[in-house]
Amino acid sequence: MGREPEAAGLWCPSAHPSEGVIFGVRVADANVTGIDYLDQLVEATDDILKLAEPLDPREIFRFGAPCAESKCAHFTGRECSLVKRIVNTVDPVVEELPVCRIRSRCRWFAEEAAEACRRCPGIITLQMSPDRVMETAAAPPTGAVDLPMPTVRTRPARLSPMS
Ligand code: SF4
Repeated sequence: MGREPEAAGLWCPSAHPSEGVIFGVRVADANVTGIDYLDQLVEATDDILKLAEPLDPREIFRFGAPCAESKCAHFTGRECSLVKRIVNTVDPVVEELPVCRIRSRCRWFAEEAAEACRRCPGIITLQMSPDRVMETAAAPPTGAVDLPMPTVRTRPARLSPMS
């Protein structure tokens, strides 16, 4: 089992593997909700991350970690612009809130409450072929970061910290 959320500070629920613990795993049938939430937090060891190969772990797992705040292009200085765009552009995928081990420290829940959780199971942190809605949701505020030039027709959607 991984470490519990710290006593202070909000967590990002779409973090990088190197910084986080696993709290959700992509389900085989992504048409249902996308993510299954684990009963316990799981440490992101090399052996666990290798289970995602040949994919990037962010295509399979959801990682929670202390919010990077000013080191993340999605952070406005006061809040997470990513979850705001998700709530404003992505449709809910569930009505009932999933049982989630990081809710007490989750920045998305702290800022957008149930509306974040109703969309959260549909969020895959790294999507190589996102639809237009997800691509829009993943784009940080204009000018916040220089995104790499797309090498495929559709730009990958990175719903994770970008510094
Ligand atoms: S948005 Fe809700 S369901 Fe998603 S990680 Fe945060 S508390 Fe859990």
